[in-house]
This record gives sequence, structure tokens and C-alpha cells, in this order.
Amino acid sequence: MPVSLFRQGSDSGTPDDLQPLDEFRGEIIDALPRYTEHGPTFASTCYVWPSSECPVGCGHCNYASPMSLTRLTRYSVARDPAPVMRLMNGMGLWKAVLSGGGEPMVEPEFCEQFVNEIDSPNLEEIELITAAHFAEDEKEMRRRVRALVTAWRTRAAGLAQANFTIRISLDWFHAQRIGVEPAARVIRMLGEDDLRDVGCYIRSVLLEDDLTIVKLAESLGATLSEMSDYQQEILLPDGRTILVYFKNLIVDGRMNQRKLSRLPISLPTQSRADVFGKRFVNEVGKQVPARTYNGPQVKHLDGLACLIDDDGKVRILEGNDPNRCADVRKTDDWQEAIQFLYADPLTVYLVDNGPQELASLLAEAFPESARLAADTNQLYHLTELLLAKPDRRLYATLRVLETHAAEGRISVEQDLMERGWAMLAQQGVDLSGRS
Ligand code: SF4
Repeated sequence: MPVSLFRQGSDSGTPDDLQPLDEFRGEIIDALPRYTEHGPTFASTCYVWPSSECPVGCGHCNYASPMSLTRLTRYSVARDPAPVMRLMNGMGLWKAVLSGGGEPMVEPEFCEQFVNEIDSPNLEEIELITAAHFAEDEKEMRRRVRALVTAWRTRAAGLAQANFTIRISLDWFHAQRIGVEPAARVIRMLGEDDLRDVGCYIRSVLLEDDLTIVKLAESLGATLSEMSDYQQEILLPDGRTILVYFKNLIVDGRMNQRKLSRLPISLPTQSRADVFGKRFVNEVGKQVPARTYNGPQVKHLDGLACLIDDDGKVRILEGNDPNRCADVRKTDDWQEAIQFLYADPLTVYLVDNGPQELASLLAEAFPESARLAADTNQLYHLTELLLAKPDRRLYATLRVLETHAAEGRISVEQDLMERGWAMLAQQGVDLSGRS
């Protein structure tokens, strides 16, 4: 089974003999002049993970979120909101999303502060992605929804007039753990007169023989529309319509093919990675890396799609080396963070070309990269897998530098390049396939 995303993030161990490769990669980056030509410097969307924990414990959690963490030993943006808010408020966002990772609502006070204070001149959407675990109890659910809505309604006068939406994650696996009632409770409450301007939709997973959304509709006394383009509508008796959009099942983290084969549900063709992935190509048939909003309607963005995880790492989704991220604690503002990220040739390459093209480059020396690119149905996870080891990171850096130097985008000392290739050869990396 692949290592879970949570475990990967927690394991910082690199074998001692490979450590010098990363150090040398750092030396190269420090020696490079700044790129003058690279992707956008503002972010259209940013996801923030208030926590890595999730009390739901779904069997398909690709992040394999732990149900509890010893919080005191781990930095958490939710316990230190000022740096993350300062950074995000300089990004130039269209949409700001509380997500996970874990379950955002294990940190309700942070979520409320975020909804109240997040800002950018063009901010249109604030979204909370939740499995609605907090809604297992009616009274608690009412208190939490009211607090979030109050935070939204009391945004300071000078801040952008953004919409607020609660996106509920509900699929067969969630329902096995907490049933459909928590989601139904939130949807019912949002029908109250003074809450109808709060957006709400559901994100589910497309599975064969799955009645989860049918059961939800029954609980709400609603009817369900036919499925079209991975979407269905729940038509409520009070006249509201709740959109349900379906995505593919990510067979990773806690889930694998063997476990899946034992379950009473199965994967329809539309839920296969290669079929579902077609939604994300642009009009010329290319995946737009680091620039896609993966919502009910796929939106290709002008700016970057970014992620800040709960321990403060700032990433461009599928757009930078996950082992070299900006850090909200060590960065004064977004301008500094984005300069740091674009100092790395891998960021410049990934934002231009995406992880699939990086996989082709790496496959010259690491043939398994091609298989990873074919099998991995989440692009940002593919970037993590491709760049999981220092020899791959250094190889990719040198190859990208060769390409960028040939294009006249950067100049790099030949001596550094030769030392890098020699170090890789010493580690037994096969360099014969470089084209
Ligand atoms: S609710 Fe989401 S984060 Fe929590 S265990 Fe389930 S899939 Fe993972």
C-alpha cells in the first residue's frame, strides 16, 4: 500500500548517504540568478488545512488522516493564525477554502476567524469543506453553524463582500462512519429564513451500487434529479436545490484495490482516473498544471492554486517540490513566499508544464516515473511521488536547468552542473538516457 499523505508529510527522514544531494540542490538554487520569466505570482485559490486530524476515520481517506494527534508537539496554523492570515491576505485570491488534510471543524474558532478576516481585493468566495462530523449533535451543529454565519456577517466594512459556502463531503465511506444525518441536519438548518444566503453543496464519490445520496434525499423528503456531467440535484420541499457533484475515488492512503474488491460498492468507468481526469484538460487538450479549480464546474484560473497545510508549509498545488516549501512562520508576506518558490527551477518548470511532463523527464533515469504518472489520479500527489527522493530531485533540477539554459531563461555555472551529474553517477543513477 502506498504511504499515506499524512505519513509522508510526517516522515522527514532522508538516508544519510543521500542528504548531500539535497544540500547540493540547495547550493545550486542559491547560486542561480532570479528567473525573469515564470508563471503567475498571484494565487486565485488557496486551500488552508486547519488540522491534520479527523475524527471520522473513513476507510477511503487518501490522506489517511489520523483521528487524533498530540497537538502540543506539532506547529499548527490554527493555534497561531496571524502568520497564515497575513500571508493569505496578500495572495490576490478569488476563492479561499478551509479544507483538509483533516477535518477543518476540529478547529472551529480558527474557521470562524478565517471566515471573518480572510481578504483580497477580488475575493468572491469563502468556502468551508467539512464532513459535518460536528453536526452529529443537533445542538452543537446549530451553535457551530450560527457562529460561522455570524463571523461571515460581521466581516469588517472594508473587506471584500465574499459569498460563504459550506461544502459537505458525503459518500459511501463517510456514511459507513457517521451516516447521512449530520449532512441532512446542516442542509435543513440552512433552509431557515435568515440562512438562505449561505451556499451549500455536496461533494460525493461516484460509485456503483451506492445509495448514499438517495438516502440523504429520502431523509430530507426531497427528490433527486438524473445524473449529468457528474452532477445531480436534490430538490427540497422548501424550494431549494442542493447540488451534488461526484468525483473519482482515489485509491491511495487507507484504500487499495484489494480492500476495494471486498466492498459492496465498485468503481464505474466514469470514476476511473483516466476517464475522470479528462475533465481537467483545457481547450487544447492539455492539463493546466497548478492553475485549476476542481469544483463542480472545473475552472481554469489566471493565478495559481495554492495550499497551506496545518504545519504552515506553503505550496503551489502540483507546482513545486513538496520538500522545498515556503513556511508561514519564516516568511513576512506572500511576495517573499512566491519569490522563494520561483527561485527553484522545479517550481518554474512544474507551473509551466505540470507533473506529467516532469514524469517524462524523470523516466529517462527513473523508469518507474512513467508508471506513477499513469497510475496516480491526483496531480499534486503525483508531484509528491515523483520528487520523493533526493536523487530524483537533483536529477530533475539538473535536467530542467539544461532545458531552461538552452531556452535562454537562466544561466548556470557549468562547474555546478558537472558536480551535480558526478554526484548522481556516484549514487548509481543511470545517466545514459538523457536526451
Ligand atoms: S472525513 Fe475526509 S479527512 Fe476525515 S477521514 Fe473521511 S476522507 Fe479523511
